Amino acid sequence: MISRSDNGNVGKKCFVIVSVFIGLSFDISANPFLRFNEEIDKTLAPNPSSVFKIFGNQESEMQKLFSQGINTQVEEEDSQVAALDLPKYLDVSPVVSNTVVHESGVVLKKYLVQKKDTLTKIAKSFLVDMAKIKKQNALTSSSLKLGQVLEIPVQIKNASSSRVIRKKLFVLPVPQSRVTSRFGRRVDPFNKYNRVYHTGLDLAAKVGTPVVSAADGEVIFTGRNGGYGNSVTIQHKNGYKTVYAHCSQILVEVGETVKMGRVIAAVGRTGTATGAHLHFEVFLNGKLMNPESALNITEKFITKLPKSEIAGI
Ligand SMILES: [Zn+2]
Repeated sequence: MISRSDNGNVGKKCFVIVSVFIGLSFDISANPFLRFNEEIDKTLAPNPSSVFKIFGNQESEMQKLFSQGINTQVEEEDSQVAALDLPKYLDVSPVVSNTVVHESGVVLKKYLVQKKDTLTKIAKSFLVDMAKIKKQNALTSSSLKLGQVLEIPVQIKNASSSRVIRKKLFVLPVPQSRVTSRFGRRVDPFNKYNRVYHTGLDLAAKVGTPVVSAADGEVIFTGRNGGYGNSVTIQHKNGYKTVYAHCSQILVEVGETVKMGRVIAAVGRTGTATGAHLHFEVFLNGKLMNPESALNITEKFITKLPKSEIAGI
């Protein structure tokens, strides 16, 4: 959780309270966040299957990975957590839909004239107007020759087809996580008289859970960054930038090119964090945006299919 108070100062007050809070024995039932989180869970829990896809037989391996974290008695500074053996990539798929769209149109079919064929008979069998066959084949009369090849202009539903793939611009950086705090202005859970601005999306998961790059890009920052703790910043195409905060481990270096799904870090609670989670921020042209809006952006890719892939021809 990174909050900013209304006057723009990074929530110093909040930090002090958090420190005191952690200094005391941590009684989870008294944690105001818990109530807040429960409310979010009931109403706003994301449907992970709509955001990402884990491929078949790798699912059990993934489950093991997500449960190997250490989540007990973690100090605020958990850089001491033993480095976990993390994979280089997770199979996250940005594909939302993949369909074939058929466009109707006229297709020319070849026909070899048989014994006793007449133009009327051929036109009837293809459900095509006789005049159209004459025009297509530049026939001046209705007489046909045995073995003559005619081009029949047939109107069909799938004269041409395209594959339309819709992909997400960003995938959820912690595939198996739950949203515990959303982006935007809200009442400070520590002080109801103080309105704060939450600059990102909090995704709760155990310490050590893999964090992946939400899209292809280049690592432009890694390291400790105040209240953000261990963090990674990635620059993407079209002016987008993503920030991954409170990590326990960082697995990439500045200047590295990363693909969507590349494991860049592990979930932690470094910096100003009351519990293990990833604080995820998205910038567009230097301005903060709602990460959930970014996660909902899709791109459409259209590929014309070759004739051989078109059914019925
Ligand atoms: Zn946050």
